[in-house]
Amino acid sequence: MDKVTLMFPGFRTKAFTLSFDDGLDTDIRLAGVMKKYGIKGTFNVNSGLFSPEGTVKPAGRDSIPLTVSQAKELFSDPDFEVASHGYRHIALGHTGGADAMMDVLNDRITLERTFGRLVRGFAVPYSSYNDDVRTMVRLAGFAWARGGGRKTDFLLPREDEWYDWTGIGQLDGAVDDLIDRFVGEPNLYYHGQLLMLYGHSYEFENVDGLWEKAEERFRKLVSCEEIWFATNSEIHEYVRAFRGLVYYADMSAAYNPARVDVFLRCDDGKFRIPAGKEAKI
Ligand SMILES: [Zn+2]
Repeated sequence: MDKVTLMFPGFRTKAFTLSFDDGLDTDIRLAGVMKKYGIKGTFNVNSGLFSPEGTVKPAGRDSIPLTVSQAKELFSDPDFEVASHGYRHIALGHTGGADAMMDVLNDRITLERTFGRLVRGFAVPYSSYNDDVRTMVRLAGFAWARGGGRKTDFLLPREDEWYDWTGIGQLDGAVDDLIDRFVGEPNLYYHGQLLMLYGHSYEFENVDGLWEKAEERFRKLVSCEEIWFATNSEIHEYVRAFRGLVYYADMSAAYNPARVDVFLRCDDGKFRIPAGKEAKI
């Protein structure tokens, strides 16, 4: 037995996730549409920018930040992950130093205290990245960071790429072709494939037909039984669990030290390695 490849939960070969920034009131409508289709995703919010309770959206505004009570209701649903987008949405790469460190760490502390959930992800405001920002994010306890970028190859992040995770913006002209390829082309030979779509929910309000377009995309995606729908951190945790499997030297069995079941394919077939257990492969 030589080749072990990753499958997603339920022996699926593909995974899809959404990542939306800025913590806006339009996230509530988006979450409703996601729920309708069974799509999961991650909302990257700024805990220093919540609207005061009772704020009424001014006429002519596409969106305003969520209030804390709106956000608490949204994130009471485990299908919607809360991740950090910095405390004040500052350009960390330009700010640097203690001010930037404080912004990163303060957001994680505030979000975890506010929502009572572990916060593992960080979307970099303005994609203002550099090695110092990656280090700050990692030392603040975030497991991954997502920026802008344009990923069209369906490859999972390598271990050294979790702090440069990216997908494709929902407004990119290539998205519909990419979804068609993702849904339509079988994934027979390679490690699990991933498609991440990112954006801002205000874009639905100021781009004509985008709400309808999103539903059309979701319908297409959920029609494909090969796709696992998950939040950003669920994908991170799952891929790390696969990569953390411990094999017997002769590859006759594997031990899974993680807290999630791992699904894999090898020369002898498809196998599930239960969380915390060993299984023959
Ligand atoms: Zn932003």
